[in-house]
Amino acid sequence: MTKAPYNKFSEYLIKKYGRKIYKVPVNIPCGCPNRDGTKGTGGCIFCGDEAAGFETLEATVPIKEQIRQNMEYLGPRYGADGFIAYFQNYSNTYLDFSLFKKYIREAIVHNIVALYISTRPDCIFEQHAAFLKEISESHEVDVVVEMGLQSTNDKTLEFLNRRHTADDFFRSASMLKEYGLGVCAHMITDIPIENTEQIVMNARMLSQAGIEQVKCHSLYVLKETALGDMYVKGEIEMLECSEFIDRTIAFLRNLDKSIVVQRLMGRAPAERTLFCNFGRSWRAIVDEIESIMRRNDWQQGDLLTG
Ligand code: SF4
Repeated sequence: MTKAPYNKFSEYLIKKYGRKIYKVPVNIPCGCPNRDGTKGTGGCIFCGDEAAGFETLEATVPIKEQIRQNMEYLGPRYGADGFIAYFQNYSNTYLDFSLFKKYIREAIVHNIVALYISTRPDCIFEQHAAFLKEISESHEVDVVVEMGLQSTNDKTLEFLNRRHTADDFFRSASMLKEYGLGVCAHMITDIPIENTEQIVMNARMLSQAGIEQVKCHSLYVLKETALGDMYVKGEIEMLECSEFIDRTIAFLRNLDKSIVVQRLMGRAPAERTLFCNFGRSWRAIVDEIESIMRRNDWQQGDLLTG
């Protein structure tokens, strides 16, 4: 298979672990301070009630059982024989600390090579980092903390109703790095109120922060969300697919080449979606991005100088 013109996750995993590795979702009963009133009640403008967990098993299913079922289903389907336990939904460090430790320990089973834990930048503290470092060392599993950031511009974060700042992200990223943990930033590359200059700035700031991974997606619109209401009322205009492609390429070309790109596009629950991936298949768009970059001999980080 031809190598991608950027540091693609699937290629990184094969190189690192020497075999096909796949992420299995783990759903725990945690919440989100941007939904329960601690930071806000409505959540981020794009977030549906089930947050990112529309493909996960119920949080009431024991962790080991969730992992077993998902391995059994996803392993043969994707030819994977090693797995990452991905704590995906809501803010996975936003729960009682003793419960957090219990759930993390339960996820250490045969064939799990890493734990990836998704949370908000204002919900992770030294107690989590110290515990995760100890787990990583004692069980020889990699640990990556994935934090939602979306943009490094505080005005954009306000628009998205994130209710944390870019500084919250960079402070937590630096703390996690001190504990030797991996850091991944979730980014949206086509927020309509931003422009390409801002996308370039996002990539450069993440590069300077020395994080290990990014995970991107295009802005999708779900029913019964604040963004959905804006969309239906015609208060927001989504970008064209070609603009998304241009911005994503600008992001990649300004991103340090050492940073692993988990993905460029996401998916949303079909039945609740008003707008997602420009009505095209995400795979076709990613193929187009890769082929434009190849054709022009562009690479991740090739615009980063000095
Ligand atoms: S922080 Fe995450 S879970 Fe909470 S409202 Fe925003 S996207 Fe949803």
